[in-house]
Amino acid sequence: MIQANTQAESSSAVAAPRQLKAVGLISGGLDSLLAACIVKDLGVEVYGVYFAMPWGCCNKTKAIEVSMKLGIKFITFQLDERYLEMIKNPRYGRGTALNPCVDCRIHMFSRAGEYMRHIGADFVFTGEVLGQRPMSQLRRSMSQIEEGAGLRGLLLRPLCARLFEPTIPEQEGWIDRQKLLRIAGRSRKEQIHLADQFQISGYNQPGGGCLLTDSHFSRRMQDTLDHGYRNFRETVALQWGRHFRINRDFKVVLGRDAEENESLIRYAHRDDYVMQLVEGNGPTVILKGNNPPGEILQTAAGLIQRFSKFRNEPPRDIRYWRHGQKKDVCHLRARILEEAEIEKILI
Ligand code: SF4
Repeated sequence: MIQANTQAESSSAVAAPRQLKAVGLISGGLDSLLAACIVKDLGVEVYGVYFAMPWGCCNKTKAIEVSMKLGIKFITFQLDERYLEMIKNPRYGRGTALNPCVDCRIHMFSRAGEYMRHIGADFVFTGEVLGQRPMSQLRRSMSQIEEGAGLRGLLLRPLCARLFEPTIPEQEGWIDRQKLLRIAGRSRKEQIHLADQFQISGYNQPGGGCLLTDSHFSRRMQDTLDHGYRNFRETVALQWGRHFRINRDFKVVLGRDAEENESLIRYAHRDDYVMQLVEGNGPTVILKGNNPPGEILQTAAGLIQRFSKFRNEPPRDIRYWRHGQKKDVCHLRARILEEAEIEKILI
């Protein structure tokens, strides 16, 4: 009787195999999609994480579509001021412009790691391929990223895992290393072949990186980092309009079309001034800086006229108001600006 009970107890004590969970970075591109397919096929429950990079690079619509197709969970992480602090002082340097690709990945992967710990997942995975990108996908950078993100042994790269030492999930036998790949280099042949095997079509071609790789955009970002910003949204708006630095305290952003005018207004800080031609159509200006004196307002007004259909006409009337207080609209007359003056303040 006692023996029978003991047997019953011991058989009920055999734990069911634990469901493995992994957090995967999903960009909307083919590589992260393939990585998710591979990990999911290994019987792992996948939690997709998408980083909302406001300056291009990833594709949220595609990332959601992919996640739904695969039946994986999906969460979006926003970037914030911590990311800007990282851009100011990247530990591992920059690429061709302001792009701190290694630090950028460390930032994102460490947040994915926090999420992994938060939900009790077992590892993080990405669609990185050894040697595919010049800065962040070199062997040395890839190990700096793994270390810097606090994911030593817990960052699986299914597309090129067999070109690296086994990670903890492989060493522990949680996943079969033989099912992982050894893709390297910039050719897309193997990924395209794999996409056929997984019956994936309509995927995005890899992009050339975010706007931080663009020298023109980087100048604007550097100017903002140098002169200060009040919140992250201000840097999101750097992608739109023409930018002018009047002096240390004041900056003008001028929309180039109706869509940009609208976006600039939507992203303006409540203390910014909004300026437009009284006569309607034309560029909207966002003037940044506290309590602008008359000559600064006139310069901003002059920029509106210069980039409107009235550029060769006598000074026009401009209306302006503090973004948070549209009921208090003021007026002034634009000052005609010399081309050399405009050139000098253009960022
Ligand atoms: S290209 Fe931009 S988003 Fe991509 S890793 Fe570099 S800095 Fe980050």
